[in-house]
Amino acid sequence: MSNKLTNPTDIARETLKQLAVRRVAPTPERYEELYYEISDGKARPSGGANLLVVEMAAALRKLPRQTPELLRDLALIEKAASQGDWSSIPPMLMQAIESQGGQASLVRAWAELIRELVTQWDLRSPHFTHSRKQESLAKVLLNFGNYPSLLNEKLDALVRSWADGSGGAGDIEPVSGAPAEAAAQVDAAPAKTVAAAIDWHHWREMLVTSLRLGIAERLQTYPDLAEEAMSLAQAAEAVSSEQGLEFLAQRLKKFWVQLELKSERDSRISTGLINLLLLLTDNLAALSGDDTWVQGQIAVVRDILAQPLSMNRLYEAEVGFKEVVIKQGQLRHSLDETQEALKSMISLFIDRLGSMADTTGGYHDKIEVYADRIEATQGIGDLKQLLDELMQDTRVMQLDMARSREDLLAARAKAEAADGRVKELEAELRAISEKVREDQLTGALNRRGFDEAFATEIARMERSGKPLCLALLDIDNFKKLNDQRGHQAGDDALIHLVQVIKDVLRPTDTIARYGGEEFVVLMPESVLSESANVMRRVQRELTKRFFLHNNERVLITFSAGVTRFIKGEDQEAAVERADQAMYEAKKSGKNQVNVAEPPKG
Ligand code: GH3
Ligand code: MG
Ligand code: MG
Repeated sequence: MSNKLTNPTDIARETLKQLAVRRVAPTPERYEELYYEISDGKARPSGGANLLVVEMAAALRKLPRQTPELLRDLALIEKAASQGDWSSIPPMLMQAIESQGGQASLVRAWAELIRELVTQWDLRSPHFTHSRKQESLAKVLLNFGNYPSLLNEKLDALVRSWADGSGGAGDIEPVSGAPAEAAAQVDAAPAKTVAAAIDWHHWREMLVTSLRLGIAERLQTYPDLAEEAMSLAQAAEAVSSEQGLEFLAQRLKKFWVQLELKSERDSRISTGLINLLLLLTDNLAALSGDDTWVQGQIAVVRDILAQPLSMNRLYEAEVGFKEVVIKQGQLRHSLDETQEALKSMISLFIDRLGSMADTTGGYHDKIEVYADRIEATQGIGDLKQLLDELMQDTRVMQLDMARSREDLLAARAKAEAADGRVKELEAELRAISEKVREDQLTGALNRRGFDEAFATEIARMERSGKPLCLALLDIDNFKKLNDQRGHQAGDDALIHLVQVIKDVLRPTDTIARYGGEEFVVLMPESVLSESANVMRRVQRELTKRFFLHNNERVLITFSAGVTRFIKGEDQEAAVERADQAMYEAKKSGKNQVNVAEPPKG
């Protein structure tokens, strides 16, 4: 070996290695021999194997990486040495050194580690947010800052966990439990520091968890305070000095004061709500009127609310209220039904009243107002008031209507009497009117009656298409009769002639006095020859029925012209043609019937 080893650990490791390589029995003597060979024979200690083992253990205790396993192994080695159990020492020593060597290989070069940490710090990861990285790094620094080799290892584990996205949080927990206790048995100094770290961390964790889960979670209604609790938790995690701790304590104190104020406010709000609830129960009690069941339930609810609140009491109050609400719903329903029934009854009543009072227009407006008010009615109380007013008005209406009815009956009697009188007058008028159409002396139609009768017959002829004939007759030598026998005899002769003519004519024929002793006979539905024959029959009849004057038989004769009315011609034209024919008869010797044929075309 060209380069001789100087570090006792390296020498010890090499010695054990050589014992194995050379397949030498691992006795203390052989070990000692080989140890000094490797260490160039320098400083061979006195005290034999025991001293050597103690020195080796002391050397191992100076290693930078004091793991619990190493400390345990060294304690076992020292115990074996003190008991002279030499054969068990070499494998134990070998194990201790091997495990130390293995651990040592985990330690990364700081430069490399820091470079990796910075790279991973900047990389975005779905599993580790920046704040989580910050948090875990702070924890590692806090817990292992005083142990460079552990710090190296934990940082390495942390950076790896960031890189592969695994949890890795467990690796950053401080050293604790049985291994720490084993270490304390060997050397109290580092164990004490670890214990201090455990307490510090533990208290910090309790405070942080209390703030986050115990306080912030329960401050949903006060977002500003919840935010402050979270911020305090974060600050507690980051505290690393006495000064920082003092500052945190002051912030916490302020926070507790604020919290207390808020909880006082909460308490005031809950008292206020209870008072409001009690007020509502009062109102409910008033609303439910005489319903004793509802009143009883409300009293129970009030009792519950009067005691200090608990969830159970609140639940009982809620159940009580629910029952009240259900019962009130039922009450309300029946009230609504009653109100609706009353409303429709009154509406019907008003409708009927309206039709009764149709003629007494003054009430219409009032009734319309009532109808509108009924529509707008909200409660039974309103309806009752309305009903009272309506009844009052109705009584007045009834009286007025009774009075109106009497007036109406009287008016009707008057109207009936007047109607009778009118009918009488009408009859009289009709009679007068008939007379106006007749000749007062003979009873034949006068000129006006003739005109009307002629127009009627022309219309009928035009409808039926049957012929209409007329005859004009003039008494012969009538002037002489008047002169010889007097004017009265003349009148009587006229009456006699008309009577004879009427007796000969058919009922549908008409006779009219056309002038002094001239007459016109209208013969509908009769041809010209027949009509002329009717006139001749009258002549013959006059020869049989003499006019008697002073018991003297006087023969009355006449001359007649007969013609047929032509459709479309004037009445006067037809009469003129008959007159012309009658004149011809006079010229031809009188007492003749002459026919005038109507012009052709
Ligand atoms: P003729 O044969 O040519 O007709 O001769 P006549 O005498 O009848 O002549 P006319 O027709 O000229 O005379 C008619 C007379 O009839 C004249 C008048 O005194 C008379 N007379 C007219 N109306 C009435 C009347 O209402 N009563 C009476 N008693 N006489 C009347
Ligand atoms: Mg005449
Ligand atoms: Mg005459």
